[in-house]
Amino acid sequence: MNTASHPILVIGAGIAGVTSALEAAEAGQPVLLIEREPAIGGRVLRNHHYFPKLCPPSCGMEINTGRLERNPRIRLMVDTEVAAAQKSADGWQVTLRHKPAYVKDSCTECGDCMSACSERIPDPFNYGLTEVAAIRPYHNDAYPRRFVLERSSCIDGCQACSDACPVHAIDLNAEPWEETVDVSSVILATGWQPYPLENLGELGGGRLRDVVANVHLERMVAPSGPAQGKIVRPSDGKEPRRVAFVQCAGSRDVNHLPYCSAICCLASLKQAAYVKEQNPDAEVTIYYIDRRTPGRNEEMLQHAENSEGIRLVKGKVGKIEDDGQGGMTLRVEDVESGKILDATADLVVLATGMMPSARRESLPFDLQLDPDGFILDQWNAGLFAAGVSRRPEDVASSVRDATGAAAKAIAAAVRSA
Ligand SMILES: Cc1cc2nc3c(=O)[nH]c(=O)nc-3n(C[C@H](O)[C@H](O)[C@H](O)COP(=O)(O)OP(=O)(O)OC[C@H]3O[C@@H](n4cnc5c(N)ncnc54)[C@H](O)[C@@H]3O)c2cc1C
Repeated sequence: MNTASHPILVIGAGIAGVTSALEAAEAGQPVLLIEREPAIGGRVLRNHHYFPKLCPPSCGMEINTGRLERNPRIRLMVDTEVAAAQKSADGWQVTLRHKPAYVKDSCTECGDCMSACSERIPDPFNYGLTEVAAIRPYHNDAYPRRFVLERSSCIDGCQACSDACPVHAIDLNAEPWEETVDVSSVILATGWQPYPLENLGELGGGRLRDVVANVHLERMVAPSGPAQGKIVRPSDGKEPRRVAFVQCAGSRDVNHLPYCSAICCLASLKQAAYVKEQNPDAEVTIYYIDRRTPGRNEEMLQHAENSEGIRLVKGKVGKIEDDGQGGMTLRVEDVESGKILDATADLVVLATGMMPSARRESLPFDLQLDPDGFILDQWNAGLFAAGVSRRPEDVASSVRDATGAAAKAIAAAVRSA
């Protein structure tokens, strides 16, 4: 096979970006894979289990990290973003900006720095539900494995972590640095962000402590989450008996996200099962507008329908308020009876959708976006989107999509060589 003269650049090392990089490299193309966070894996790794198999996402990611390690054609750079990009005759000239490496590769992960650090910060991996030391391992399954430092949180003049390090692996004066590279084509696999809970004040988002988002529930049920894997109410730490899932929370709504995120119905069915596993006596109600579980995923819907203690109610939740007795009241338009109901719950999970992370202002390419902000392919410019940066989808679809993006990027690169 012909190869392009320059490597393919893959931006974002979630499941889509990692897949594109591996597929292109295993087909013979050199690849630069960059990730702005300190570790790869994206948002899938924040899930406790993932459908359809309901296994921990770290298992699938381990297979991919093994493939990455074995492939000399891939150069992986974490803590890296694109600072500038210029179209060239045979691709792009791109400036990569690397964040300061405060913790060097010689770190042995002994943890002495973490014990010495007095600064606590909201843990970004747990969506701020827990606090961690400013210097710490990024998360349990992080690859590459090394400690990270949130330098902006350090107290002026403090160097307790570096003083405590027995192998002098901490450089508090590290600087960012840049390099310019020529690439043949670019795959944008920049993924998604959760729709902000605070935008859903009428549903209690950001206002009632026991109204959480679906992404929070994934962390709550994870052993490394805020209550060591127990699903509890944030307000009082008690196990909830009545749990309500509100579907399309801020989705398919012109005031919020006008589109369907494709995964929220399945995510709530999965999460309803988490609740029942922990507390078989729990009463779970899923309020939905439509039940979207395409293809073989319909089995998850059938499983929920056949489970005692899980009710599916076709109804739109319009308002959620504190009931003054330690619970919450949900004002629901019950579509089948045509009545307005007042339901109660101890914990409410809002099934919020996925918003594209990519912004024209944060990526220096002349991106073409669809009306919802998802990235469109540009064959002439050699720019291709993969995974949720292209459209809302699940992991299996993101992987298929990313394989397609690799094939398109190779074709464009070889044509322009
Ligand atoms: C509550 C919830 C539960 C879910 N559960 C499941 C499930 O059980 N099964 C399932 O199949 N799917 C599930 N999904 C969907 C799944 O999370 C997505 O399909 C998956 O995350 C898509 O991967 P991605 O690589 O496209 O994006 P992401 O996971 O978002 O990865 C994108 C990566 O790009 C990086 N990045 C972004 N911008 C830049 C930049 N400018 N420069 C460098 N790097 C950048 C990010 O840091 C990130 O690492 C769930 C979604 C939600 C909301």
